[in-house]
Amino acid sequence: MLTIAHHPAYDAGFPPDHRFPMRKYSALMDVLARDGVLERARLITPSMPDADVLSAAHDTAYVAQVFAAAIDPAIEKMIGFPVTRAVADRALLATSGTVMAAEAALTHGLALNTAGGSHHARRAHGAGFCTLNDVAIAARHLIATGRASSVLIVDCDVHQGDGTAEMLGDLEAVFTLSLHGAGNYPPVKERSSLDVALPDGADDATYLAALEAALDAALQRFRPDFVFYNAGVDVHADDRLGRLALSDDGIAARDTHVLSRFVRMGVPLCGVIGGGYSRDIDALAARHALLFRAALGLA
Ligand SMILES: [Zn+2]
Repeated sequence: MLTIAHHPAYDAGFPPDHRFPMRKYSALMDVLARDGVLERARLITPSMPDADVLSAAHDTAYVAQVFAAAIDPAIEKMIGFPVTRAVADRALLATSGTVMAAEAALTHGLALNTAGGSHHARRAHGAGFCTLNDVAIAARHLIATGRASSVLIVDCDVHQGDGTAEMLGDLEAVFTLSLHGAGNYPPVKERSSLDVALPDGADDATYLAALEAALDAALQRFRPDFVFYNAGVDVHADDRLGRLALSDDGIAARDTHVLSRFVRMGVPLCGVIGGGYSRDIDALAARHALLFRAALGLA
């Protein structure tokens, strides 16, 4: 059965004209309820995470700032918005959601978080709309607790997973694969285990061919016993920040390909929704829901 982690506080209630589309987290749940996904899934509600789990991945001093919702203004500037109590709580709960979904995936095979994929956050500070790097935290947690020994991170958000690469680059037990737009943020890329940079305007066929080749190459070099999948929908043609040209069908095909590949291999997978920045919140939520539909068909 598909497990879905969600907390109402994932939506920190930004105004509708804010450049970060916060309302998508609530809108996604509305779509999942309307489409009957929720009634066929097991819903779990994250609780506040342990500081120790976060400090195993991030600097202890930064973790303390996040818990206190008192972040250095210079770091808030890198993140792109003030980290109020509500924003700090959403980052903490979304991180817990990814950790709990990963634990559920170990038992049930497939689990998703309705947030997460904050892949620009680095060891010592947040960046690029990301406060805490939930996937890097959860990956370290699985390894530290002996529940995984080789973790593959498949990051298909349109932006490079630079924070994840920085935070996990020292671990041989982790393989980071980032498929991203060459001309997009961050301007200076980190080095993942495997980076695939796509040109502006890449369409469904170009993208899916690159994805299959990248997964083949990653699996030749690395045998995962756990997978995290960042299913960012900012690869869509209508995304405000994306620069690529995928359709809804292309995103659905991408998600189905990634999920079915690891389900077939019997490798547990935790999916997170990643980025998506359309002004049309309903269209954006429907795009994020594609991941959940694909997972429901396979769970
Ligand atoms: Zn992104």
